[in-house]
Amino acid sequence: MKVFKFGGASVKDAAGIRNLAKIVSVEKGNLVIVVSAFGKTTNALEGVLNSWQSADGSYNDHLENIYDYHLSIAEELFPPSGEGRNIIEGSFSKLKDYLRSVKGTEYDFDYDQIVSYGEVWSTLIVAEYIKKSGLPAEWIDIRENLITDERYRDANILWDESTECVRKVFDFNSFRYFVTQGFIGGTKNGHTTTLGREGSDYTAAILANMLDAECLIVWKDVPGVLNADPKWLPGSEKLEEMSYREAVEMTFSGAKVIHPKTIKPLQNKNIPLIVKSFIDPAEKGTLVTADPILRKILPVFIRKRNQILITLLPKDFSFVMGDNLSRIFNLFTGNGIKVNLVEASAVSIDVCVDDEKRKVDALLALLKDEYSAIYNENVEMLSIRHYTPESIERITAGKEILLEQRTRSTVRFVVKG
Ligand code: ADP
Ligand code: ASP
Ligand code: MG
Repeated sequence: MKVFKFGGASVKDAAGIRNLAKIVSVEKGNLVIVVSAFGKTTNALEGVLNSWQSADGSYNDHLENIYDYHLSIAEELFPPSGEGRNIIEGSFSKLKDYLRSVKGTEYDFDYDQIVSYGEVWSTLIVAEYIKKSGLPAEWIDIRENLITDERYRDANILWDESTECVRKVFDFNSFRYFVTQGFIGGTKNGHTTTLGREGSDYTAAILANMLDAECLIVWKDVPGVLNADPKWLPGSEKLEEMSYREAVEMTFSGAKVIHPKTIKPLQNKNIPLIVKSFIDPAEKGTLVTADPILRKILPVFIRKRNQILITLLPKDFSFVMGDNLSRIFNLFTGNGIKVNLVEASAVSIDVCVDDEKRKVDALLALLKDEYSAIYNENVEMLSIRHYTPESIERITAGKEILLEQRTRSTVRFVVKG
């Protein structure tokens, strides 16, 4: 069996769903189809959550827009009218009930209960459309099968319990196609969790691992993994093959094309990852394996935006290395802040992190008695793998560089955005 994953950049309208159905229909073997929320639905649901929490009364309008968007897709796919509505009505009502009856208290918990609906709606529509196209398909609620801990918004998979459920529920003796949600899971107590933004690729890799898939294909709006985001640098080239290691380095540095956590479950079982074009399915894409054939090494450019650069100095001038360092890192982890770059000197440490203001403010409040903190908001982290002098010049010319770090294979710059 294979696992296919379709993201919101590809599946954003009725034409996208028809294309998805066409792609899966030519597949001869068993298939698990992992789908993200349509288009930018997750962002829109974050908007609903925020206005619901601030009680400004506008959350209903936001939700109506999301409903209309899904209804218009469903109605286009399932004429005559009424049928499309039936598919999504029930789960929209459930979310409305939640928003009406619950008084939000825990941001991360409420986030997962609310924002997870994007994947529920998309998969209900996709599964129904595939069935209507005559394919033997079943919709699976992954919240009951991918069991996680209670770390809301960044949940960890409980592998043993989940593997058992997943192997049971994806029963290819009954169906050849299964459609399920990326990004979301559920606790043992039945609460919904999410695996972190952009996490559908990760879900697909987890299922590929648990089901011993032959390969995972992620279908994207690009021809494969390129040596730069084409929305950033023109003339980027496709990487025909790459190693798991290279893919981890690239995605951890911020290449948005695949979620960084995707690689490990695949590498552990030597399952090939193929990144392919949703627009041009006959094209070859990029093959990620343990032993790639590398014809030429290109510099690979990665831009991670919306960063904060924090400099911490112990007020008593003690050395940063040693106890200070471990304490600082424990606090970053404990506050759920991911560290993207670290540079330490004798009595100061620079850390580049994602701009999540709430979390960073909470952390700085904890450190303020012992450390002075300086920080720059709105900075970018630029990385080049396999750098050359020309490649550095290409992306740093005219930029104000706040920090530079070089290893043998990678150079990183923190620059003003
Ligand atoms: P989806 O959510 O549909 O799976 P994403 O939007 O998360 O897709 O990822 C695809 C996008 O990743 C592309 O549209 C492209 O702009 C961006 N991207 C960033 N870096 C790269 C890269 N090195 N190669 C290809 N695409 C990249
Ligand atoms: N829908 C989720 C998000 O936008 C997960 C994903 O797309 O991978 O973050
Ligand atoms: Mg994505």
